[in-house]
Amino acid sequence: MDKSSAELGHQWNIAVNAPLKDLFTYKSPQGLPIQVGQSVKVPFGSKNRQLSGLVISASVEKEERLFEAKEILSIDEERPPLSPQQLQWLKWIAEYYIYPLGQVQELAFPPLKTKGARASKKSPIVPEVAAIEPLKLTEEQENVLRQIEIDQYQTYLLHGVTGSGKTEVYIEVITKVLAQNKTALVLVPEISLTPQLIRRFAERLGSEIAVIHSQLTDREKTEQWWKAVTKEKKLLIGARSALFCPLPDLGIIIVDEEHETSFKQEEKLKYNARDVAVVRAQMENCPIILGSATPSLETWHNSQIGKYKYLSMKKRVSDRPLPQVEIINPRSDSDQGDYTRERPHWLSQQLLFQLQDNYKKGHQSALFLNRRGIAPTVQCFDCGFIYLCPNCDISLTLHGKNHLVCHYCNYHETLSGHCPQCKVGEPKAYGLGTEAVENDLRKFFPEARIFRADRDEIQSREAIEEMIRLMENREIDFLVGTQMIAKGLDFKSLTVVGIVLADIAFNIPDFRASERSFQLCTQVSGRAGRHQTSGHVVIQTYKPEHPSLVAAQLHDYELFVNA
Ligand code: ADP
Ligand code: ZN
Repeated sequence: MDKSSAELGHQWNIAVNAPLKDLFTYKSPQGLPIQVGQSVKVPFGSKNRQLSGLVISASVEKEERLFEAKEILSIDEERPPLSPQQLQWLKWIAEYYIYPLGQVQELAFPPLKTKGARASKKSPIVPEVAAIEPLKLTEEQENVLRQIEIDQYQTYLLHGVTGSGKTEVYIEVITKVLAQNKTALVLVPEISLTPQLIRRFAERLGSEIAVIHSQLTDREKTEQWWKAVTKEKKLLIGARSALFCPLPDLGIIIVDEEHETSFKQEEKLKYNARDVAVVRAQMENCPIILGSATPSLETWHNSQIGKYKYLSMKKRVSDRPLPQVEIINPRSDSDQGDYTRERPHWLSQQLLFQLQDNYKKGHQSALFLNRRGIAPTVQCFDCGFIYLCPNCDISLTLHGKNHLVCHYCNYHETLSGHCPQCKVGEPKAYGLGTEAVENDLRKFFPEARIFRADRDEIQSREAIEEMIRLMENREIDFLVGTQMIAKGLDFKSLTVVGIVLADIAFNIPDFRASERSFQLCTQVSGRAGRHQTSGHVVIQTYKPEHPSLVAAQLHDYELFVNA
C-alpha cells in the first residue's frame, strides 16, 4: 500500500456487496485503522442500508468532490484481512469473468458470521484413523516427485493411469510443503470427495486436515474455514468452492481429476475452478498440480506446447495390470446360453458370464449406467404419445411402477393405465435406467446382495459412507450405479465392471461428447481390479467401432487425442 497517498485524504476505494461494477469511495473515521484488503461495513444508498465491502485501494483523488464521501462504519472483525495476492486474484476474476468485485469477494468468506461455531454431533468430518507409514514409492512416483519443485510457480500435468498412485504423489508433495510451514489446497470434484478419499489423506496427515464441501452445514463449513484460515489445519481438501478460502502462505494447489466438468460453476459467477486455480498459483508463486488419468484436451494441449510441465505415470503400482476391456455389441451377441431364466434384453451373454463367474468366486461386480429410474421415456403403444414435462418439454422418466418424474424440474405425476391422448392405447416404457437394471439383476441373482447407488438412493454423506462401508465389508455383490460409482472409489475385491450402455455418453449432442465418453469409460474401468485380483471390464455398445471406446479399451490416451 502506498502510505503517503492513503494519509492524504484517508479515503478508500471499496467494493461493496452489490451487483455493481464500480468501486465506491469512503472516508475512514477518526481512529479506525483501515488497510487495503480489510473487510468493512459501509452505509449504502438511502434508508441507512449497510453493506459489507472490501477495501481495494487508497483513493488518491485530490479534486473537490461533488458530494462528500461517507464514512466507513466499522471494521468487519469476522473477516480477516485478505493478502495482496488474494486481492489481486479476486480482482483478476472479477475482470476476467466480468462480475462485480464486491460479489466475487463474498466467496472468500464463510457462510456464517459466527466465529468459532460449534461442531455438530454427526460423524466427524475428518475421520479419526490410525496413522500409517508412508509407502515405498514406485520408480514412477519417485521420478515424478523429483521433478516437482515446491518453491515457485509452475503448472504440472500429472497424467497417471487409474491406480498408478497419484494420490500418493499428492501426499508426498504436500508433506514437503507443510514441513515448510506453508499451507496446501486440494480440490476434487464434489462427487469424488468421499470419506474414502479423506481417509487416505487422514492416514498420513490426519491432524492437518480441514474439509469443505456442499454436504456440510453452514455451521460446519464456517468451522472448517476458520481452521484453515488460522492455520490450525494446514491442508484444506474441498470441492470447487474451497478454492476461494483465503489460506495464508499457500504453498501448493492440487486439482485432482482436472478434466471433470463439475469444476465449472454455471450459475451466477461462471468460472472454471481449475483455470482460476492456475491463476491463483501464479499470483501466490506456488506450484499447482493438475492430475488425471484422462486429461482434458485443453490441459493436454498446454502440456504439449510447454506451458505446463508434463509428468506421466503409465503403470499401476506393484505391476498390477490394467483391466482387460471387452467391447460387446448386444445386437450381434450370440444367444446361446442360460435359458433357465430369461436373460434381460440389455444384458449380453458375455457380461452375464462375467457377472456369474465373478459372483461364484465371491468377488464384487459393478454395473454402470448413467441414467436413473426404470426408463427414460414412456410412450403410447398405439398413437405414439410421449409423456413430456409440461414445464421443460423433455420426456418424463418412469420410476417404480407408475411414477413419472422430470429430471430437470422435479415435476411429477402418476402414470395411469391408458393414454391421455387416444384413451385406448397402453403406455409402454422405452429405454433403460439403473432401477430397471437393479430389478432385473434381482430376478437373475435372487440370493445376491444388490445395492443401487444413484441420486434416488443416495442423498447424503451418511448414505455414501454406508455404501462404502458395505462395499469394503463385502456385504454387496453387485453395485449398480450412475456417475456416483464412476470416480475415485477403490475397493479391494471389485473385479468386474460392466458399462451397460456406453452409447449414452457419446450420443449427447455436445462437441465434447467423445472426450467425455473416453473419460467416463476409462474412469469406470479404472475401478476394476485395483488390487490383488486383476480386473475385467465389459463395455456394451451399439457402436463398437466408436474411437472413444476403442481408445479406452486399449488404455491409450494418445490414440484418443490423435483420433
Ligand atoms: P490413482 O489416484 O492414480 O488412481 P491411487 O493413489 O489411488 O491411484 O493408488 C492406487 C492404489 O495403490 C491405492 O490402493 C494405493 O494405496 C496403492 N499405492 C499407491 N502407491 C503405492 C506404492 N508406492 N506402493 C504400494 N501401493 C501403493
Ligand atoms: Zn420439468
